[in-house]
Amino acid sequence: MKKAIIALFCMLCFACSGPDLTSQLQEARWIDLTHDFDSTTVYWPTDVNFRHDTVFCGLTDKGYYYSSFKYAAEEHGGTHFDAPIHFHQGGNSIEKVPVTQLHGPAVVIDISEKCSTNRDYLITADDVNNWEHQHGSIPQGAIILLYTGYEKYWNDHLRYTGTLKKGPEGVAELHFPGLSTEASTWITTNRKVNAIGLDTPSIDFGQSKDFQTHRILTAAGLTMYENLCNLSQLPAAGAYIVALPMKIKGGSGSPLRIVAILAP
Ligand SMILES: [Zn+2]
Repeated sequence: MKKAIIALFCMLCFACSGPDLTSQLQEARWIDLTHDFDSTTVYWPTDVNFRHDTVFCGLTDKGYYYSSFKYAAEEHGGTHFDAPIHFHQGGNSIEKVPVTQLHGPAVVIDISEKCSTNRDYLITADDVNNWEHQHGSIPQGAIILLYTGYEKYWNDHLRYTGTLKKGPEGVAELHFPGLSTEASTWITTNRKVNAIGLDTPSIDFGQSKDFQTHRILTAAGLTMYENLCNLSQLPAAGAYIVALPMKIKGGSGSPLRIVAILAP
């Protein structure tokens, strides 16, 4: 009995087990993986650009400053979140994705060298397995982040997406790397992860015609993040991700604010 009381007391006392969660989070390094939203933000060639219009900005007739704006956006542009319902009928829409699926340990897979010489590179199961050989098995609830290196082209739309054209003509000219169907099947069959994200406009490569990777991942209940940035600043393992989409009821996707938390 005495032993049980001491054990309970130890579980509640942080003094002997290092700093508590609050001070750990306050001392941690926080890295923003989110691009700005404005009229130049990358959207799919068939989508309209992000809109941010002034409702009022300036001095009111009562003498105080006031500003307010309104915005309009497609769900799937800029740094954004894909819910399972995006490509899987009956899958969770955003408000149904549990908060426990919106965070997890980061698994950062660097395939930037291969992607630098091949705009159509398809990330393979071997690329995923190479990470595991160095860092161990992908943990349950992980968030896999694929660093293609394309984040550095963000302000150069031609290099980032492969085209400056809008509409179906633009879609036909998209060239950027993505995750192969083979790797997607391997991940969903062998590991239990929360999400997969990358620094290109889509988890399927630019030349995809049938979005098989989206279909495989959403059918398995995964969520996805596209158009991420600052993945180059993350270690291969050890960061923790928090990714919070706008809670649009029935939404298939939304702008996403995503951060990585690193030990100081
Ligand atoms: Zn999307």
